[in-house]
Amino acid sequence: MLKTHIKAYGAISSTEPMREMIIERRAVRPCDVEFEVLYCGICHSDLHSIRNDWGTAVYPEVPGHEIVGRVTKVGSDVTIFKTGDIVAVGCIVESCQCCHYCQQGEEQFCEEGITFSFNSPDKVSGGMTYGGFSKSYVCEDKYVLNMPAFKDLASAAPLLCAGITVYSPLKHWQATEGKNIGILGMGGLGHLAIKIAKAMGAYVTVFTSSPSKTEDAKRLGADTVVLSSDREQMKACKKQDMILDTVSANHDVNRYINMLKVDGSLVMVGLPADPLKVGAFNIVHGRKSFSGSNIGGIAETQEMLDFCYKHNIVAETEIIDIKDVNRAMERLEKGDVKYRFVIDMATL
Ligand code: NAP
Ligand code: ZN
Repeated sequence: MLKTHIKAYGAISSTEPMREMIIERRAVRPCDVEFEVLYCGICHSDLHSIRNDWGTAVYPEVPGHEIVGRVTKVGSDVTIFKTGDIVAVGCIVESCQCCHYCQQGEEQFCEEGITFSFNSPDKVSGGMTYGGFSKSYVCEDKYVLNMPAFKDLASAAPLLCAGITVYSPLKHWQATEGKNIGILGMGGLGHLAIKIAKAMGAYVTVFTSSPSKTEDAKRLGADTVVLSSDREQMKACKKQDMILDTVSANHDVNRYINMLKVDGSLVMVGLPADPLKVGAFNIVHGRKSFSGSNIGGIAETQEMLDFCYKHNIVAETEIIDIKDVNRAMERLEKGDVKYRFVIDMATL
């Protein structure tokens, strides 16, 4: 199979800084779309992955799965995209399309396992998939999203992972009017969850460990902000129907399970590497659930993009040059970002 060589930025080990490298992209097949990458968000999963927190990294690794670009070529069978279209790719670039979950549009639960847009065995070209910290991307048209006409396209990039990862559980657990929805952790995922849960009509309470974020949480739409280190504030807080836990590090989930109503759910989307301890008494009393959610399917991702466009929702971003990506990763590790880094890929 013919391949093209392009510039990318990636990691060669868990300890060395990321650097510029040349990678191969497959030539466009009849069903493929190729696009020039314009912007790519930096998700905490990119950081977990290049640092090998989950033990799954294969080097060299090119991260990036909040990818926005402009179409440069389409295969002969592609009818839904044309050269010049503004498109996006999130986490999923391949699934079996046959199993129950793929048929339901929930490719994220594909029984054969999905191919992620980066650091995933590439069933078409062999080797591993390389993500969006690169000049161009190629994948099948089924996994390409149509970008609505966001004025600030760079700040819309984080919707491709952070946006769908919070939209999907908020919709599933019905974060609508009359519901008390807690958002735990106000980072890339959490700050978008505030905006999306508000737009869905819920009463939103933010639990943050950072005093410096309380004003922003209100500005973004939170009805109540609770500083999690303040026992009095925690005690005074009303009980929640659902708490969406976006925390990236180990933490005591029992404190939040105790803030749920009867039948309430604590829904994990954060992916700390070590197992979390759940006290049986905490869930037994009040018939509570401790559950999780994983990104979202392609159709739901398109639905989320259209929803965010309609409600004028994009991320709060810091746009960076590719040469500053190592510094950005260090800052993300320390929680020093308000609230998502996005790389301007023209700088690669
Ligand atoms: P992020 O921007 O770093 O935000 C994480 C937030 O968690 C921080 O801003 C902080 O919020 C809080 N936090 C961090 N360390 C903490 C600690 N030790 N104790 C208490 N709170 C802490 O990360 P992100 O990009 O939003 O991603 C969050 C997590 O979701 C990551 O683990 C990522 O891998 C995972 N993720 C999962 C999926 C999925 O499909 N399930 C998809 C994408 C990402 P405060 O300052 O407000 O406390
Ligand atoms: Zn992500």
